[in-house]
Amino acid sequence: MAVESAVSIPTANPECEKHAKALQFIEEMTKNCDAVQEKVIGEILSRNADTEYLKRFQLNGATNRDTYKAKVPVITYEDLLPEIQRIANGDRSPILSSHPISEFLTSSGTSAGERKLMPTIAEEMDRRQLLYSLLMPVMNLYVPGLDKGKGLYFLFIKAETKTPGGLVARPVLTSFYKSEQFKKRPFDPYLVYTSPNEAILCADSFQSMYTQMLCGLIMREEVLRVGAVFASGLLRAIKFLQLNWKQLADDISSGILNPRIADPSIKECMSKILKPNPELAQFITKECEGENWASIIPRIWPNTKYLDVIVTGAMAQYIPTLDYYSGGLPLPCTMYASSECYFGLNLKPMTKPSETCYTIMPNMGYFEFIPHDPVNPMPLSRDSPPRLVDLADLEVGKEYELVISTYSGLCRYRVGDILLVTGFYNSAPQFKFIRRKNVLLSIDSDKTDESELQKAVENASKLLNEFNTRVVEYTSHGDTRTIPGHYVIYWELHVKDPENAPTQEVLNKCCLAMEESMNSVYRQGRVADNSIGPLEIRVVKNGTFEELMDYAISRGASINQYKPPRCVNFAPILELLNARVVSAHFSPSTPHWTPERRG
Ligand code: AMP
Repeated sequence: MAVESAVSIPTANPECEKHAKALQFIEEMTKNCDAVQEKVIGEILSRNADTEYLKRFQLNGATNRDTYKAKVPVITYEDLLPEIQRIANGDRSPILSSHPISEFLTSSGTSAGERKLMPTIAEEMDRRQLLYSLLMPVMNLYVPGLDKGKGLYFLFIKAETKTPGGLVARPVLTSFYKSEQFKKRPFDPYLVYTSPNEAILCADSFQSMYTQMLCGLIMREEVLRVGAVFASGLLRAIKFLQLNWKQLADDISSGILNPRIADPSIKECMSKILKPNPELAQFITKECEGENWASIIPRIWPNTKYLDVIVTGAMAQYIPTLDYYSGGLPLPCTMYASSECYFGLNLKPMTKPSETCYTIMPNMGYFEFIPHDPVNPMPLSRDSPPRLVDLADLEVGKEYELVISTYSGLCRYRVGDILLVTGFYNSAPQFKFIRRKNVLLSIDSDKTDESELQKAVENASKLLNEFNTRVVEYTSHGDTRTIPGHYVIYWELHVKDPENAPTQEVLNKCCLAMEESMNSVYRQGRVADNSIGPLEIRVVKNGTFEELMDYAISRGASINQYKPPRCVNFAPILELLNARVVSAHFSPSTPHWTPERRG
C-alpha cells in the first residue's frame, strides 16, 4: 500500500525525514487502532475524573471503557446546554474539563437558531496541527514536486464575539489562522501560500479576497494547487474574479493597489509584491474578457495539479461546476474535521470524489458509533445507554452515527454525521461521509433542517393573512446553478378572493420574512460572507402538489403513507415543479445579522 511503501522514502533532507516520520505515525496509529483508543479514553477519564460532569456518573476513579459506556449517557448539544451556558457566563470551575476552557468554537451546526458553542482547551490546537501535518506527506506520495511551487488558497477569518463571561467565541478556522502556530509557522517548502498572512487575517472580506486573488494572479506560474476549505468558497473566488478582473488587471498593469484596499498591513505587504507588469495584465484581460470561462483555472494557473477543496457531503453538488472551471482537474478531499474535534484524513486523496474515504486517527479523541438504520432508529435512553460500537469493531458496508469523547470534555456526544464503513487501513476503519443528519438545505456552511424551514414558511405566510390566502403545500431546493447558490421555495397557494390576491411586493416580503426566520449561519452567509444569494419563492399552479403525489405513487409510493417531500433534488420532480411556476419572487434586501448571539 502506498502509505506503507512511503515509509521507506529516503531521509536525506529534513523534509523527507519529516514526511517519513508522519507516515510512520499514521502506520502506528492505524495498526494499533484499538489500543490507541483505549489509551485515549483512559487519559480523558483520568485527567477529567474530578470534573463536575463526570463525577455525576460515579465512575469512582474507573478509567476503562466498560465502566464509561455503562455509566455515562450518550448526549446531544441540547443536553449540555446548561453546562455550556455556565461556562459562557464565566463559571471557571472544572465543569467539563480539568484544563481551563480557552475559548468557544462556534460550529456551523446550530441550536435554537444560533451557532453551537463548543468548549475547547489550548492543547487541542496542537492536536489539530498534528492532523494538518499529516496531509502533505500523504499528498506527496501521489503528487510529487509540490515543494517546487505555491498553493493559492482562499482562506478567511470570520467575526468573533465574547461570551458574557469573557471567553472568545469564533469558528475553528478563525481560531487556527489567528494562532501563533499558523502566523509564525516555520518555513516548509510544501506549505508555501501565495496569500500573505495579512490578507488572510483581514476581517473585511472584500479586501481579503481581492488581495488573495491579486497575489494569486501575480504568482500565477508558481501556483501548483488551488484551494479553499469548501467547494463553495472556491467558486465564490471564481465569481469574484469574474466581477473584478478589470480592476485587478489595472492594478497589475500600473503597479498601484486599488484604493478600496485600505487595510494598512495589506498595503504595506503589497508594496513589496505588486510591481507594474503590463504583460501579465494583458494576459489576464485576454483570458477574462470573453464569455468563455470554461477551464479558467488551468488557463490562468497552468501548473495547477489539483483543486484542494472538500467536495464530499453537501459540497458534492458543486462538482460539475468545479469540473467546468477546472477542466476536470483532480479533486482530492484531504481531511474530515469539525469544531468539536478533528477526526481524520484521506489516505488515498487522488481517488474520485465519489470514492473518497476518510480514516479517523484514533489519537484525536475517543470514537464510538451508533449503528444507523434509518427505518428503525435505535432508541437512546439516558438511563440505559446502549452499548455503542468501538472504532476497531465496525463492520464494512454498515452505516453508523458518530459519537465522540474529547480531551476538551465532550463525553459521548452525538456529532450528527452518518458514515459508511468502506474498508480498513491496517486495523483502522475507513469511512465514506454519507450525510449530516436532519440537513434539508445547504448552500455553503449553512445547514437548514425541516423544522427551521417549516417555521420560516409559517412566519412568512402570516403576511398573506390580510389577502385571505394560505400556503397549501410547499417544498424547497438548493439552487446552485448560479454563484452564489440560493434557496428556492415552491409554494402552492390557496387564494380565496382572486381580486385580492397577494401582490408582488408582499410575496417579495415573504421571501425576506423567511430569511429573517433562518438560523444565524444562513443569515451570516447572506450578509457578511455573500456566500448565499437572495431567497426565491416560486408560486406554482394549483394542483401541482397533487401531481407530485401522482408521480410518486406511479413510482411505487404508498398512497396512505405519502407525504410531500420538503426538499427535492430529483431532476424529473424539479422539472415538473418548474414547469408549473406562475410567478417568482426574491428577497428585496438582506436579512438582519450581527455577530452577537440572539437571546
Ligand atoms: P463545523 O462544526 O462547522 O466545523 O462543521 C463540521 C461538520 O462539517 C462535520 O461534522 C461534517 O458534517 C462536515 N464536514 C467536515 N468535513 C467534511 C468532509 N470532509 N466531508 C463532508 N462533510 C464534512
